[in-house]
Amino acid sequence: MSEHIKCRHGAYLDMQRCCYCDQERIEELEAENKALREALEVLAKLGNGDHYGNSDGNRIAQKALLEADDE
Ligand SMILES: [Zn+2]
Repeated sequence: MSEHIKCRHGAYLDMQRCCYCDQERIEELEAENKALREALEVLAKLGNGDHYGNSDGNRIAQKALLEADDE
């Protein structure tokens, strides 16, 4: 199992990833994270216009946003 596989960037590889692969993965994760946060923002205000609401669903979304910022 010591084949040297190249990634699609043609980079040397022992680990199936190169720094370009890593960068792409980071960008993917950042885009996903942004989409999730936007969805949570909508849910946090749902039914309450531009302000955070206090329904159970609003609170769950607000808590998730706070925890996401708490890294
Ligand atoms: Zn690569």
